[in-house]
Amino acid sequence: MKKRAQQIKEQQSELNKELRKIQRKCSHKDQQVRFDYINKRHMWYCKECELPVRYPSDSELGKYLHS
Ligand SMILES: [Zn+2]
Repeated sequence: MKKRAQQIKEQQSELNKELRKIQRKCSHKDQQVRFDYINKRHMWYCKECELPVRYPSDSELGKYLHS
């Protein structure tokens, strides 16, 4: 019998595959600035597929921080 942690890792890799598939098909039309805790900076995220699309410009970031 497989260990639970091993099952979780397998499920994670399956889910990641599915996520990448969704992200490949997505046109990233609906984006939102959000803080990326891994890279410790803000990014534009696609609201549809959760892909970090690009870095915001300084003016975009200023708008976001003051809204
Ligand atoms: Zn997308």
